[in-house]
Amino acid sequence: MQQLLGNNYKSKQEIYSLIDCNSFYASCERIFNPRLFSKAVVVLSNNDGCIIARSDEAKKIGIKMGEPYFKAKNIIKKNNVQVFSSNYSLYGDISQRVMEILSRFSPEIEIYSIDEAFLKFDGINKGDLYDYCHNIRQTIKKWVGIPVSIGVGNTKTLAKVANRIAKNDKKRKGVCILLDSAEISLELANLDVAEVWGIGKKLSKFLKQNNICCANDFVQRDRRWIRQHMGVVGERISMELLGFSCLSLEMIPNLRKNCCVSRSFGSPVETINDLSESVACYATRASEKLREEELVTSVMSLFLLTNHFNKNDPQYSNSVKIQFDYPTNDTIIIVKKALQGLRKIYRPGYRYKKAGVIMLDLSIESNIQGLFETDRIKSKSLMKSFDLINFRYGSDTICTAAEGVKKLWSMQRQRISPCYTTRFSDLLKVKS
Ligand SMILES: [Mg+2]
Repeated sequence: MQQLLGNNYKSKQEIYSLIDCNSFYASCERIFNPRLFSKAVVVLSNNDGCIIARSDEAKKIGIKMGEPYFKAKNIIKKNNVQVFSSNYSLYGDISQRVMEILSRFSPEIEIYSIDEAFLKFDGINKGDLYDYCHNIRQTIKKWVGIPVSIGVGNTKTLAKVANRIAKNDKKRKGVCILLDSAEISLELANLDVAEVWGIGKKLSKFLKQNNICCANDFVQRDRRWIRQHMGVVGERISMELLGFSCLSLEMIPNLRKNCCVSRSFGSPVETINDLSESVACYATRASEKLREEELVTSVMSLFLLTNHFNKNDPQYSNSVKIQFDYPTNDTIIIVKKALQGLRKIYRPGYRYKKAGVIMLDLSIESNIQGLFETDRIKSKSLMKSFDLINFRYGSDTICTAAEGVKKLWSMQRQRISPCYTTRFSDLLKVKS
């Protein structure tokens, strides 16, 4: 078999697990608000637009993913569903805590998204896997308060399949170990091909036209046929489902190509003053992101646009590219240049819906040497103090005056919960 497959496929039996937080955003809201347990909870997208997370109870009532909030208002009211604006400071912080715990259980970890990670379990006896996974679940529940589901398989794709079973089949108690070949075939026969990781809606439509309905039909199909119609990506999925690992863990995140910060305004913005404040805020946040990842930018793009869905309003959109004298991540320099750029593209008489900045041409800070050395060292130590103060006393303790104070343009988040873990003033108060 190995010869047949070539060197790209490893025949050594590896063990992958996928750990996924259950209804992550809704679960985060519950940690500090025990009254929400066993109640239906939903979380809204930016500007309270659509439903982007639902607890199990909310799913059962029939609230749909991605549904606009205003459309779901009746069903929400009737069932006393608890509604929250998205609180990314909270979710990001809780995610970091979960990932930190996970990394104690295996040195090989790939953080796949805010609420999902792959761990490799090489060296753990098969017989011990179930207890090991339960230990992970209990530790995360006890230390952070988030319920997780764990799926285990010989490949990342099979770990995904197992995770789905762990989540949907309550008898499994949150853990599914899928290593037995007879059990794998059975589960693949029960799995709609559209649900296989990497296949998606469009490909599954094509597959169904060719009589491939479940994942088992897919792996039974001749590999040459798959390669011919789906290329090497499809072939890889098929191999992974057969238990041959083709996708290894990506432990070092790929270097970012750009860094974008943009938001829709809570209500239309018309004046250059309000626009300047928002652009200064986005430029500040983008600079912080660059510093967090020790990157610098040499070109920035700035854009603004009106709401083209609003047919009655005159429309305008524009963008401008701004070059820096040297690669930087200095908030003061970036904000200043962004505001210069804004003055170039701003036109009065329009109702703006959105603005944003994109940092382009990123490079690693420590690789930049030579030009403007003294300026860069001065800027670096100033920014270090900036970040330290904001870390210690909460974000926005120190900021550029350009960001403004009232921020009338900012996002609508009428139902946001406190930032329990990242802002001192929001710490939970306990009364006795
Ligand atoms: Mg999840």
